[in-house]
Amino acid sequence: MMIPCLACDAEFAPDEYFRACTDYNRSRDLVAWTCPACGNRDEMRVLPGELGFGYPHGRRYAVHDRVRVPGLHRRRRDLRLDITLDKKVWHVPARAGHLAFR
Ligand SMILES: [Zn+2]
Repeated sequence: MMIPCLACDAEFAPDEYFRACTDYNRSRDLVAWTCPACGNRDEMRVLPGELGFGYPHGRRYAVHDRVRVPGLHRRRRDLRLDITLDKKVWHVPARAGHLAFR
C-alpha cells in the first residue's frame, strides 16, 4: 500500500514513509515526520492500524485526520518508538532534549 502526504498528496511506500520519521516525543506520544517530496514537517501519532494527525489541544493532542494503514503496530520503548508493518520494523529515536528531563 502507499501512504500519502496530507500536505502535497505525494504517496510513499511504507519504507520511504517511515524512514522520514524523526524525534519521537515520548511524553506527548508524537513523532515528527518530514515529507521527502514537499519538505512539510508535521507531527503525528502512530496508532494501531492508522496514523493520526491533529493539533495540540491544551496538554492533549486532538487527532482529526486519520490515515488507515492496515496491519500497522507500534511499541513504546524507553528511548524510541518501534513501528512495525509487514514484519518490517522502523525505530524512531526519542528526542534527546526530552530525555534530559525524564
Ligand atoms: Zn508532501
